[in-house]
Amino acid sequence: MRNVVIIGSGPAGLTAALYTARANLQPLLIRGVEAGGQLTLTTLVENFPGFPKGVQGPELIDLMQRQASEFGAEFVEGNVKRVDLSKRPFILEADAGNIETKTLIIASGASAKLLGLESERKLIGHGVSTCATCDGYFFRGKEVAVVGGGDTAAEEALFLTRYASQVNLIHRRDQLRASKIMQDRIMRNERIKPVWNSVIKEILDPEKGEVTGVKLQNTQSGEETRKKLDGVFIGIGHTPNTSLFRGQLEMNDVGYIITQGGAKTSVPGVFAAGDVQDPVYRQAITAAGTGCMAAIDAERFLEAQH
Ligand code: NDP
Repeated sequence: MRNVVIIGSGPAGLTAALYTARANLQPLLIRGVEAGGQLTLTTLVENFPGFPKGVQGPELIDLMQRQASEFGAEFVEGNVKRVDLSKRPFILEADAGNIETKTLIIASGASAKLLGLESERKLIGHGVSTCATCDGYFFRGKEVAVVGGGDTAAEEALFLTRYASQVNLIHRRDQLRASKIMQDRIMRNERIKPVWNSVIKEILDPEKGEVTGVKLQNTQSGEETRKKLDGVFIGIGHTPNTSLFRGQLEMNDVGYIITQGGAKTSVPGVFAAGDVQDPVYRQAITAAGTGCMAAIDAERFLEAQH
């Protein structure tokens, strides 16, 4: 029987592991399929406090894991296939076998949706990004593209105008899905150029290991063109990794777990931290902060049971 099981090994899960380990709760952390989370898809992280010269995303994850290990956190590879949150102790069916736990911290994150191109996979972190706040700074004076037509894409495009000389907003239709106010801002901004009715067929050039442009196809005429670019931001949305908990925890209409009073979910003893409950900020530092909150909430919950 475990005191605390944590699902997910991004900054939220690892911070929860550090805090619960230091509280002598011997946490077990299940690393999940995308071990390390979204930071492992990025290169230099310059906005995590404490690293004046920046730190590589995967290295930051490794440092966090080592710090939690120092205090006795245990880690297992693999995923959780099923959970039963209907009664305590909670039962988790994991790749490593069944686990019973008094509290559960869900830090399974959200996955940025991708276009699904091989070239995109090869160039992620090398000119292809899913986070303008994280990587926009690297594109000062450069020409970039944002893909998508919703609020995420609009926000990313507007943010990027601080740095990029031009932001091409590539959308597969001729109408944005973004809210009216964001549409107005996009249309008024001289640095943003909408590229309507277009999809990216290929991101160039995986051979060179950097983004040099894109191959576009017009969805109306089928015509293919090339455009020179220095970076591509994929802004087609995120999917919270919550399918395991559907029907067992309160979620918003697109599947983010609802937390209140700190990191508490609708089931006592179950806490959520990081992007799995945050459609707004989505930063490593906010994920780490909510991981800390979840750990303290779990510790207090266990104390109150005695
Ligand atoms: P949305 O689902 O609203 O938009 C996704 C966009 O990406 C759509 O324009 C869609 O095109 C396009 N898209 C999807 N898949 C592909 C693909 N494979 N290839 C090309 N284009 C694709 O997601 P968002 O993340 O933008 O927003 C999700 C929710 O979060 C919304 O409710 C939004 O309002 C909210 N949000 C709010 C923010 C805020 O208030 N600050 C910031 C960000 C999000 P199409 O339109 O043709 O379907």
